[in-house]
Amino acid sequence: MPSLRVTVWGENVHEQTDAAVRSVYPNGMHHAIAVGIREYLVGAAVETVTFQEPDHGLTEARLAQTDVLTWWGHRAHEQVADIVVDRVHRRVLEGMGLIVLHSGHFSKIFKRLMGTTCSLNWRVAGERERLWVCNPGHPIARGIDRCFELPHEEMYGEPFAVPAPEEHVFISWFEGGEVFRSGCCWRRGNGRIFYFRPGHETYPTYLDRNVRRVIANAVDWARPQGHWPDACVNIKEPIEPINRPEDRTKKR
Ligand code: ZN
Repeated sequence: MPSLRVTVWGENVHEQTDAAVRSVYPNGMHHAIAVGIREYLVGAAVETVTFQEPDHGLTEARLAQTDVLTWWGHRAHEQVADIVVDRVHRRVLEGMGLIVLHSGHFSKIFKRLMGTTCSLNWRVAGERERLWVCNPGHPIARGIDRCFELPHEEMYGEPFAVPAPEEHVFISWFEGGEVFRSGCCWRRGNGRIFYFRPGHETYPTYLDRNVRRVIANAVDWARPQGHWPDACVNIKEPIEPINRPEDRTKKR
């Protein structure tokens, strides 16, 4: 059995409709993301599925076999079936890790897990992004210098309408002046969630070695720490005998 089972979910819509995106990612963004994870997590089983497949590729069986799921979506957020979102949500609470990438901040699953709007400010101007490491000791920052740069990216700026992250790993600065909390961790139930900002579809961000390393580190960090099956059981037989009020009345 592989040490870690990873499913890379790709919306795969821009790649079908936009020649500029296809020229950067001829096999789809999901393919580039999967290659990057395999590069740094040798021994992990990394497979890709896309929105266009039945159940968007996220069947009960697939999710049962997934330790960590990565999510890139944009155009088709609202077309993702609620039943699939319910399924992913349940698996996160049980302990499956979830890595949400870039425009995935507006996906149904991320908004549900956060419980807020997850809105942010943005600008597409191909500007420089510098990502600063906030916590050099964090496993997701392993192998990353004190900062790294992407020459061309979409800008995401604060305010980012999410609950206060439990851990900050990266903060971004953009050429135009804005800043953004670009690498954030949360836990929901037994599941670990990491949001990582870069990855606009028209730039070769998922070919960048630092970005690949961060995503692989995040997948490794988000591996299940245990399993929490959700149940609400009526425990009729107590461990210790209980002196029930009705029994006390009878004795009198
Ligand atoms: Zn974008």
